[in-house]
Amino acid sequence: MIKTKKLKFYIRTFGCQMNVYDSRLVSESLKLSGFEEVNTPEEADVILSNTCSVRQKAEERGVKFLRDYKKQGKITVMLGCVAQQHRRDQVLPGVDLAFGTRSYILLPQYIMGYLNGNAPENRILGEDFGLLELTDTPLKRRATWIQEYVNIMQGCDNFCSYCIVPFTRGREISRPSEHILKELINLQKQGVVEVTLLGQNVNSYFDGKRQFYQLLDLLDKETEFLRIRFTTSHPRDLTYKVLRVIADSTRITDWIHLPLQAGSTRILKKMRRGYTKEEYIEIANMIREVLPEATITTDIMVGFPGETDEDFEDTLDVVRKVKFDHAFTFIYSPRPGTRAAKLKDDTSNEVKGKRLRILIEEVNRIAHIQRTRMISKFYDFLVEGESRKDKSLSAGRNRGFIKGVILGNYPPGTYLIGKVIDVKGLAPIVQPVKIIDKFEIYNELTLSV
Ligand code: SF4
Repeated sequence: MIKTKKLKFYIRTFGCQMNVYDSRLVSESLKLSGFEEVNTPEEADVILSNTCSVRQKAEERGVKFLRDYKKQGKITVMLGCVAQQHRRDQVLPGVDLAFGTRSYILLPQYIMGYLNGNAPENRILGEDFGLLELTDTPLKRRATWIQEYVNIMQGCDNFCSYCIVPFTRGREISRPSEHILKELINLQKQGVVEVTLLGQNVNSYFDGKRQFYQLLDLLDKETEFLRIRFTTSHPRDLTYKVLRVIADSTRITDWIHLPLQAGSTRILKKMRRGYTKEEYIEIANMIREVLPEATITTDIMVGFPGETDEDFEDTLDVVRKVKFDHAFTFIYSPRPGTRAAKLKDDTSNEVKGKRLRILIEEVNRIAHIQRTRMISKFYDFLVEGESRKDKSLSAGRNRGFIKGVILGNYPPGTYLIGKVIDVKGLAPIVQPVKIIDKFEIYNELTLSV
């Protein structure tokens, strides 16, 4: 029998921030049960892979990672969306145990049972235990850095025709606002200065007492973070009230991630997105009106089944009208089990690739114009590490989530005000003018030093 205290685990996370957050809680829960976390898979007895199924490639990477370590005799555990998708009676090659996205609460108990020779009859657990919400793990979690993610809700009720999330994450559940506040205060006490609130569709948050704008207002008033971010906003559900709370707050940042997906109303309808091209542009205009300095970022896919050149032109038109500060762009990848996977797709890969290249070029051209508007202005930056290209420089993000290159090598966590003196590629080059020693003086910070 292997003793709990000697067991070492390593967890690799694929996919979105939601998985990053879940991995943190899983890791915390295993540690509270006596397991030890190690920094490399080679040192571990148990390898966990928190998988993503949003695109085919991501799915394959998460599965391959486990198989490679299974061959080396490690105990392998699959978490996340890929695990959730499989039937309970299925045996996944290379995987000893698999846990769906809402059954992580059983992890420590089942891993121990497995090691002691009591393998569960059904090795894929997909029961809905509401993730780790049934325990107080989120409230006990130890912060690993001054920036942390906090989940405010799980699942999604939208069923966009291309998306696997409602099947892998389940229906929408909002965490109680008091619970979220407690988790944030715990993180704040540990020195965390920036939190990002996570949800597939944060704007439909409702815990029976508070809607999203009321949650934001509560967190704004009851915490002292330097920055509170949130993602993702569904364009259909983003309200004026939310924007108003941001405008009145010094903490809640004016970075709005607003997935467009496509610019053509015809394609948006096939995607079941719930808005038209014109409505999306109207929402973006409302953001710019209430929050003139807002950073608007987006996700756009090309090559959805039936997309014509004309439809693609509509996407470019929205890109030009909204002037996104950044866009995640990709080619549509059919996900088995979704409605869109059944649609006839007659666009060649060559055409899809060409559209993607044109889109990236246009997004970058516009984002560059947006960045040059930052020149000669002052912004606050939180240093996140060294610049990738030049270790004598630092990299950090401003309030609007824009990553800049900061002249000088500053330790991660340094908070400073800097003047943008140039733009290289899409990165503002920042000359620091004032280092802020104490985060508490944030309210006195003036950006026109
Ligand atoms: S809103 Fe649509 S794309 Fe986003 S998670 Fe829900 S179903 Fe998927």
